[in-house]
Amino acid sequence: MIRIGQAVKQAKERLEHCGVENAAHDAWRLLALVLRGDPLSLRLRAAEVLTDQQESAFDKFVERRARREPLQYIEGDAEFMGVRLEVNGSVLIPRQDTETLCLEALRLLKAGDRVLDIGTGSGAIAVALKHGCSGAAVTAVDISADALTVAKKNAEGCGTEIEFLKSDCFGALGGRRFDMIVSNPPYLNDAEMKTLMPEVCCEPEGALYGGTDGLDYYRRICREAPQHLSPGGRLLFEIGWQQKDAVSDLMRQFVGEPYALKDLSGNWRVVCAEWRGTAEGGKKD
Ligand code: GLN
Repeated sequence: MIRIGQAVKQAKERLEHCGVENAAHDAWRLLALVLRGDPLSLRLRAAEVLTDQQESAFDKFVERRARREPLQYIEGDAEFMGVRLEVNGSVLIPRQDTETLCLEALRLLKAGDRVLDIGTGSGAIAVALKHGCSGAAVTAVDISADALTVAKKNAEGCGTEIEFLKSDCFGALGGRRFDMIVSNPPYLNDAEMKTLMPEVCCEPEGALYGGTDGLDYYRRICREAPQHLSPGGRLLFEIGWQQKDAVSDLMRQFVGEPYALKDLSGNWRVVCAEWRGTAEGGKKD
């Protein structure tokens, strides 16, 4: 027999021992998952006794978190741009950093624009853009069928209509052109892959690893973008904090003069350029 207050205290100690950063916060959240309550109001119920069933369900969740499975995978969802998105081990957990990309895209988007999201994962960016600009026609692609299953559920859950296609970058898009292409591609390099937090190791490697120098997908997308942008169309990337110069160079070479934006932590996070070529696919100047 154990009371809520005591169960949370023990869980917090177990999680702390395993190196979990916000152990108390996570312990309350996991208990809220068992009791289907909200973590704040649970604090007022500290003296309540857990049933055996509740106690064992709580232990199982705490054990998963102690093994450093991300809280969002255990809860099954994550918040992004004010909406709840379902997540599981086949998709990257949406980061707050990525809101910088979405806000810039929404600033530029107009009703009627055709938008492509490459490597949509949970569908976070595509859903946020369609949600914020319902007049845009949003297409989202991913190489992973399992990720697309999650993304489709999220689009439906948010009442957004998005076209989903299984595609390795532009592979399945034929000659289609878009007014805006956005992507948060895998961008971690060899060195970064070796120093990941245990939680990030639970996320799909295919959504994180961008080749030896982390730039593989920027090279591919920049090279091919002129075949898929309409004249005046824009390419917007999320980037790793040290990639501004390298990605800007690629943009300049293949697309157009770039500009960069910082995220809320002050790191370079987004690079954008407008394609000034002609519909034939070549650069004008
Ligand atoms: N931002 C992620 C991280 O820091 C990486 C995401 C990506 O590669 N697109 O782990």
